[in-house]
Amino acid sequence: MTGEYVPENHPRTESLRIRHAIIDGLKNNVVAEAGLIAHGRGEALDYLIGEKTNPFAIKAIEAAAALLLLAKHPVFSVNGNIAALVPDETIDLSKAVPLALEINLFYRTREREEAIAQVFTSRGVSEDSLLGIALDKRTEIDEITHNRRIVDNRGINVADVVFVPLEDGDRTEALVSRGQKVVTIDLNPLSRTAQKSHITIVDNLVRAMPILVNKVNQLSSNSKEQLEKIISDYDNDLILKEAEKAIRSI
Ligand code: ATP
Ligand code: MG
Repeated sequence: MTGEYVPENHPRTESLRIRHAIIDGLKNNVVAEAGLIAHGRGEALDYLIGEKTNPFAIKAIEAAAALLLLAKHPVFSVNGNIAALVPDETIDLSKAVPLALEINLFYRTREREEAIAQVFTSRGVSEDSLLGIALDKRTEIDEITHNRRIVDNRGINVADVVFVPLEDGDRTEALVSRGQKVVTIDLNPLSRTAQKSHITIVDNLVRAMPILVNKVNQLSSNSKEQLEKIISDYDNDLILKEAEKAIRSI
């Protein structure tokens, strides 16, 4: 993340630093133009939840960690904003669970795929382990009509748990209808993605990801039964209501 245009003494230094990381991502072909607009929606909602990780997010993070640890074939669906904002935490999570990284773009061009792959390979991730790039490994999900129907047949196509931060609602619904478990991070508790996912972490990606990595590490020695108990005690509808209440009550 670069912050060369951001004065250290600015009262909103962190928010500006994140914003500029997205702008740099756009310049480097990592972030799509629509990614800027999504970020703006996120910023507005972040104000409304107090720009902090709330208890409803902490509970969802714990359930997400348990579900990822229990999964047989978990896959992280990586897009441009994720690559621009949390590349290191994404790699940390992929090692901690462990889970596969699949580049999956709504605005898919070869240039963007390569620019995003570069973000990860420059940090030591092997090209072979990055799914979603190899043309001969692609397949299509019938339930989806747009570009995101293209998935890797070693990854999202066969995953039991798909982690899709900043996802669009259509694909979330499609993955759920295929019987896959979906975990998301979305600052908007009212979005279709937030509503349709099995576990919704209503928090900024930038804050939630390091907490999720820590949680996975912390729970990794728990028994299967303990992890299953965390999931059976978890109620996503309740979490979404708590998040919505926090927003409406300010
Ligand atoms: P739907 O799921 O109903 O299709 P949408 O069209 O708003 O909703 P997308 O544009 O596909 O969804 O995804 C962007 C979502 O990600 C928005 O809800 C936005 O609030 C959220 N978002 C943007 N930046 C962040 C961030 N840094 N951390 C968490 N969520 C974010
Ligand atoms: Mg959408």
